[in-house]
Amino acid sequence: SRNQTDKEQLTVMGAGLVGSLLSLYLARHGHRIQVFERRPDPRQAGAAAGRSINLALSDRGWRALEGIGIAEAVREVAIPMYGRVMHDAQGNLSYQPYGQPGQGIYSVSRGGLNRRLLDLAEAEPNIQLNFGQQCLEVDLREQQLHLRDSATGEEKHLGYQRLFGTDGAFSAVRSSMQRTDRFDYSQSYLEYGYKELTIASAADGTWQLEKHALHIWPRGRYMMIALPNLDGTFTCTLFFPFEGDESFAALRTPGQVQAFFERVFPDAVPLMPELIDDFFGNPTSSLVTVKCFPWVHEDDVVLLGDAAHAIVPFYGQGMNAGFEDCTVLDELLNAHAGDWGKVFQEFQRLRKPNADAVADLAVYNFVEMRDKVADPRFLLQKKIESKIAAQYPDQWLPLYSQVTFSHRPYAEAWANGQRQDAIMSRLMARIQSEEDYDRPEVQQLVQQEMAQVPA
Ligand code: FAD
Repeated sequence: SRNQTDKEQLTVMGAGLVGSLLSLYLARHGHRIQVFERRPDPRQAGAAAGRSINLALSDRGWRALEGIGIAEAVREVAIPMYGRVMHDAQGNLSYQPYGQPGQGIYSVSRGGLNRRLLDLAEAEPNIQLNFGQQCLEVDLREQQLHLRDSATGEEKHLGYQRLFGTDGAFSAVRSSMQRTDRFDYSQSYLEYGYKELTIASAADGTWQLEKHALHIWPRGRYMMIALPNLDGTFTCTLFFPFEGDESFAALRTPGQVQAFFERVFPDAVPLMPELIDDFFGNPTSSLVTVKCFPWVHEDDVVLLGDAAHAIVPFYGQGMNAGFEDCTVLDELLNAHAGDWGKVFQEFQRLRKPNADAVADLAVYNFVEMRDKVADPRFLLQKKIESKIAAQYPDQWLPLYSQVTFSHRPYAEAWANGQRQDAIMSRLMARIQSEEDYDRPEVQQLVQQEMAQVPA
């Protein structure tokens, strides 16, 4: 008996990166939106203080921001990173560009981006933001939310017409769906945790490492990375085993931490005056992949972002994928306005294979970043690959570029990437140096391989 065409009251659970962007998209379709968020308003005085944590924004994310007209404003406070700088254990540097000259990924402040999206949402008369409201449970049959006020502890029940679950990797909306029949769910943790550390700015507030790069200290079984912030600092993230000889469990005292860092990250240590405070003051967090299906309950609940597909961070795509969810949902709302059942079904049909693919890509890239980028054979392979890409531009876009600098569906990118990997391993068997690429027998092999690759 639901009226399919009228503008409706919609409910968004979670005002993180995806929920706040989604609200702006939904408002543009003329709906009224109630947003509930567990945390207090991050724009309120006091809440903003804390560590600066950044993330890499790339083409899929930019497109979603363009859709609501804020890409330019965000670009002004984003730092382009045009390639990777690898730091070896002796402090030697090597560089690998991410794409074509001028192509880069962008370091943005997580909190800054979220606050900006909330400012825009606040300014929309159709959007009402409710902070300090935690969803405990959703009664899917009665279409009721069970909420708790984080400040007073008071609980209440509220009806909803249509619910968008954007409450992150440990989604309460998803938990309620999990108790319905034939709901598939898996979560898996890496044996690695991560900890955020800081590289200080120079005395004059400038950057002590190359600003326009993502820095990696690849060490085989583990790694540290660093992304630049506007204030001259870098936020470092150490990805490190929980257990074992070299692990979080093994570094228990300041002396152990100092000695370990001096041994394995010698060029970074002098830039990290707060290393010991950061190491023992900041949490050690875990890394989870969550897959589930369906993402939809009838025509009244849908999951987006990490609530539907939490992935490990090694391709820098979690937020970008969640933002792309918003782009796809927006397109479906344009195509099938009012027919929510159709919109939701199409959404999960289109997005689920791509979410699974980016989850696999993210795990794959962990091995590349922590291990392979330190391997001369691998770096040679990358150089050969860029020669192929230059020679066959219509047939060969490197996997990283497909994922990062294109809007090609992730599942397609992943399938292409696997095919490219197979070709590269056949070619690399004949190649010992960059010059070998031009040898006639190698060129002949390249031509044979490329004859099988569609444009
Ligand atoms: P979240 O950002 O988790 O937001 C969920 C919101 O819901 C939060 O505000 C939370 O308070 C609220 N909430 C949760 N539970 C409830 C409840 N019960 N009731 C009410 N509200 C609730 N992605 C990239 O694209 N690039 C990167 O470089 C990148 N780097 C990363 C590095 C690390 C170390 C990690 C862990 C992730 C990284 N990601 C990156 C992934 C990115 O952080 C996530 O994909 C993104 O934050 C997902 O947005 P979301 O809005 O779906 O979830």
